[in-house]
Amino acid sequence: MKRGVGYCENTDCEDYAKGVFLLNHGDTFYCPRCRQLGKVEKERGFYTGNSDIFKEVRVEYNFDPINGVYREIAIVRDESLWGRNNVYTLQSPLIKTEKRALKVAEAILANLNRYRGLLNGDDIPRTTEIIRSLDAPARDVARPVTEHSTPSDARTPVAQRS
Ligand SMILES: [Zn+2]
Repeated sequence: MKRGVGYCENTDCEDYAKGVFLLNHGDTFYCPRCRQLGKVEKERGFYTGNSDIFKEVRVEYNFDPINGVYREIAIVRDESLWGRNNVYTLQSPLIKTEKRALKVAEAILANLNRYRGLLNGDDIPRTTEIIRSLDAPARDVARPVTEHSTPSDARTPVAQRS
């Protein structure tokens, strides 16, 4: 599931720089109001390091569509870990506030370490809205999850590592 925001780039349009939520969308976005070609900013994640433990998650948020930059960054770090550990970065145009960014960063950090090794390619770890899907058995984690998952959906407990 790829999420993103489409922005109108027509300064004469009432919806200029106003975001439209996009799900599994391509790279072409037309403003629904003025019908001109706008631009798409997709949520993306990447990491540095090659250990399989993540110590730090950075969430870049408060995207500025006019300058094409993320204005702020929230960092959550697990100080109980030492040595060389990976740092994961999420850039999301969907996150606007620090409170939300910190919550998402915390959820990602917990999930990366719980399901380590499951991250491949440009997958984005689950964040809070869909966190319950993490209770699914590991083989199901990569399956697409819709916003409409019901609470009864795949709640098989996963053994805690100690
Ligand atoms: Zn427009």
